[in-house]
Amino acid sequence: MDFSFTREQTMLLESLRDMGKKEKLKELAVEIDKTRVIPHALTKKYADMGLLGMTLSPEYGGGGEDSMTAILAIEELAKFSPMIAATVFESNVGAVRVIDRFGSEAQKKTIIPGVCSGEFSVSVCMTEPEAGSDLTALTTFVEEKGDHYLLNGRKCFITGGGEASHYLVYTRIGDIQGYKGIGGILVEKGTPGFTFGKQEEFMGLRGMPSCDLYFDNVAVPRENLLIKQGEFGNLMLTFDIERCGNSAMCLGVAGGALEEAKKYAMERRAFNRPICEFQDIQFTIADMAMKLDAARLLVYRAVADAGRGLPSIYEASMGKCFANEMVKEVTDKAMQIFGGYGYSTEYPMERMLRDARAWSVAGGTLQMLRITIASMIFGRRFDQRRPDSST
Ligand SMILES: Cc1cc2nc3c(=O)[nH]c(=O)nc-3n(C[C@H](O)[C@H](O)[C@H](O)COP(=O)(O)OP(=O)(O)OC[C@H]3O[C@@H](n4cnc5c(N)ncnc54)[C@H](O)[C@@H]3O)c2cc1C
Repeated sequence: MDFSFTREQTMLLESLRDMGKKEKLKELAVEIDKTRVIPHALTKKYADMGLLGMTLSPEYGGGGEDSMTAILAIEELAKFSPMIAATVFESNVGAVRVIDRFGSEAQKKTIIPGVCSGEFSVSVCMTEPEAGSDLTALTTFVEEKGDHYLLNGRKCFITGGGEASHYLVYTRIGDIQGYKGIGGILVEKGTPGFTFGKQEEFMGLRGMPSCDLYFDNVAVPRENLLIKQGEFGNLMLTFDIERCGNSAMCLGVAGGALEEAKKYAMERRAFNRPICEFQDIQFTIADMAMKLDAARLLVYRAVADAGRGLPSIYEASMGKCFANEMVKEVTDKAMQIFGGYGYSTEYPMERMLRDARAWSVAGGTLQMLRITIASMIFGRRFDQRRPDSST
């Protein structure tokens, strides 16, 4: 397997590092954590640099790049903070990929150019108060009413909630039970009957909009249907590329923490020596680098194999599960190297540790990923509702 970067990818990473210094992204990450606001100027800058929608189809204004280029950019920016990488993530591996791959000509023409310019963004709306890991228990539903659908239900923990222009809502269509009755419909912000709950206050990822969505007899045009009932698999397949984006965020946060810890270990002195001269500190740094590299290889494998298409469920799940656990461990170890200063808000470690925690829930929990991986190893499905699903 060849993971060598193309010349363009190498140049892109260099330009992101330069921009990071010029635009003081380290300082901006601290500011966003405090104010909980991602400045619009940053999104505009990314649009001008061609970072938004670089994986989307060129016919609609996208960059036509493979996912690896976007993943590398997300990882590089997430070294500052996941919030610095957020719009690059959403526009390249978020729900807009479902539109790019399965949408109608009209949906693509209406939405993709706006995503590439930073004017639009698309949220993925799966989770409900009673349907998280057990997604197929979702009860949001649409009824056909002549030239439109009538949508009713509630979603929760929706990233981008209140801010995004478009919402890809996973919903029941018709009376079919289970996953076969689930499809996806696009709802625009501002549609009558579509309202938002209060913004969540999360432990980390401060600045990331997230809230409940309420749909009360929302009339949605028929042409907004994106994924029909019976094609639930297409929604989930596309979601695997988002999972690789989630993993790239972990690689970035861990990479940022490793850099900070290494620098600190060379500067901080104890017993009249820099602490990097103590073997325990060296081994800790070596372990952090080893885990990060192992995660990187799993994630890059999934993304490299996907090319311009979608990753394998097995490879994407394995990469995400490992990277989600790795980032918690690496940020925790980095914090230890900082001693008491690691626990202080004057230093970046406590923010990095807070930001590390979300990924092993968002995009599917560690347990659900392990269930997927195990089912592929055993070559059979383990129905979580029935203890014996072998028959
Ligand atoms: C930062 C963040 C961003 C998010 N963004 C979005 C978003 O944009 N869109 C969206 O739709 N959702 C989003 N979510 C929601 C997320 O997808 C869900 O929280 C997640 O799928 C888990 O669902 P739940 O919270 O209902 O937990 P539950 O499903 O109630 O699970 C609770 C615990 O039980 C475990 N569990 C459940 N079933 C099993 C089983 N069969 N075997 C073993 N363990 C099990 C789970 O792994 C978990 O540890 C986000 C969440 C977070 C934290």
